[in-house]
Amino acid sequence: MSAPRVLALFAHPDDAELLCGGTLALLADLGWRVHLAAMSPGDLGSPTLDREAIAAIRREEGRQAAALLKGVWHCLEARDLSIFFCDELCRRATALIRRVAPDLVLTHSPTDYLADHEETARIVAHACFATPVRLYAAEFGSDSEAPPRAAHPGQSQRLVAVHLEVREHDAQRRRGGQQHLALANGGEVHAHLSPLVAGGTGPQCHAPL
Ligand SMILES: [Zn+2]
Repeated sequence: MSAPRVLALFAHPDDAELLCGGTLALLADLGWRVHLAAMSPGDLGSPTLDREAIAAIRREEGRQAAALLKGVWHCLEARDLSIFFCDELCRRATALIRRVAPDLVLTHSPTDYLADHEETARIVAHACFATPVRLYAAEFGSDSEAPPRAAHPGQSQRLVAVHLEVREHDAQRRRGGQQHLALANGGEVHAHLSPLVAGGTGPQCHAPL
């Protein structure tokens, strides 16, 4: 029997590590295969480097983070601050989910301080729903050309999206220049598990991680 797979699909490199790195490490220790993914390579993440230079650095950081978890890194190559709920990005996310065939998907809270994060949550929720839909083509613009294919041969349809909510202490929130939420001493994380596809199991559950 193959190892269960978790896909952490977030907006930027480092989002997954900051928001659910501990959870991913625990799952890896339990034998899960970890797939770390970013919608964009974080190409606006430097006050000095140009976009390609910082993107290359952050892609490599993503690969190294995934390697620490004995996992795999993916990037959907959207652009920073230009992650919008659109047909193309929904299809790219669906293609990734079909390729990875995860048992669990982790993503942003739908309510966040940054539009890139909220849009990613919408894209991932949509992609989770679309993944098992046989006639939905993951290749952008190919609905009339691509033959439909099975989304997950042999895989159960228990795909769930997990939205993480992080509540920080005020002192943490005030950290100078901090643009990302940090999980530090006393941070609270709650996961809302929402079965999103037909065949999803059970009622919505709320469980602290
Ligand atoms: Zn981010």
